[in-house]
Amino acid sequence: MKDFVVVIDLGGTNLRGAVIDLEGNFLTRSSTYSPTLLSKVDGVEKVRKEIGGLLEQGISREYRPVGIGIGIPGVLNKDGVLTQSPNLQNLVGINWRKELGGSFSLPLKMDNDANMYTMGEGWRGAAQGVEDFCCLTLGTGLGGGIVIRGKLYRGAYGTAGEIGHMVIDEDGLPCYCGNRGCLEAYASNAGIMRRAAELGQEAKSSYELYEAARQGQRLAQEIFQEMGRYLGVGMANLVNIFNPAMIVLGGNVAGAWEYFISSALDEMKGRAFRYPMESVEVVKGMLGDDAALWGCAYLVSQELGIELR
Ligand SMILES: [Zn+2]
Repeated sequence: MKDFVVVIDLGGTNLRGAVIDLEGNFLTRSSTYSPTLLSKVDGVEKVRKEIGGLLEQGISREYRPVGIGIGIPGVLNKDGVLTQSPNLQNLVGINWRKELGGSFSLPLKMDNDANMYTMGEGWRGAAQGVEDFCCLTLGTGLGGGIVIRGKLYRGAYGTAGEIGHMVIDEDGLPCYCGNRGCLEAYASNAGIMRRAAELGQEAKSSYELYEAARQGQRLAQEIFQEMGRYLGVGMANLVNIFNPAMIVLGGNVAGAWEYFISSALDEMKGRAFRYPMESVEVVKGMLGDDAALWGCAYLVSQELGIELR
């Protein structure tokens, strides 16, 4: 009998789930709207139902469930309470470990969604086999994960890796976290959409802005180049602090790669120490939205002491 893990990526827009075996194969997937507008009680119930449905699907295929992994965009404390989350504000304050842990009598692994994403890229994606790397997810916000010697760096109480909230301009733009000048305020979907609105560039989404850049619209191209420069400042800081072998850039905004990467690399090169900068590889994430799901499966199996392939 093969083992499987139920994985959940609780995003601000979608709640995505899957059943993954320990060889990394997806047995089934699910997607529904995120409980961002539900009450606390209904929100928890929705996630619980989703997990229950996926467990049943795995079991009906005669696989054995070994654990549950959940990625949540926000800051979880060590007990499993979501303490802060711009995208899931109505679900802040819930003790997810307590609410869900008792319902399934299976090991439950929860972590920040960007940490999950990072480990997915490490297991199956761009950073396979890389021991020391940083990952940035350029999406609605800017999530981050730091891997040192093959292990996710969590800090003293589990909240490390908030790369998006490294301050790169002390008097800069306000950030959703309450601070000013965070990297996220510039190098994220929200950041570039704000810049586009400021400059009068029409676009309803970062994808539309990317399309405008592809059609040769200079202003759209310049918005991505400018984003790249801010990103380069952030990457230079990462290079100097962590000396990573690789920086993985994922998330939907990373799709505009050709319009921001050269300004990002130029900026990084101009600022970072030369020796660590010369050996750092900056690459695009490979797994897209599935990275966090793979990462959930990876972290659950690591917790269980299962060796993965
Ligand atoms: Zn911030």
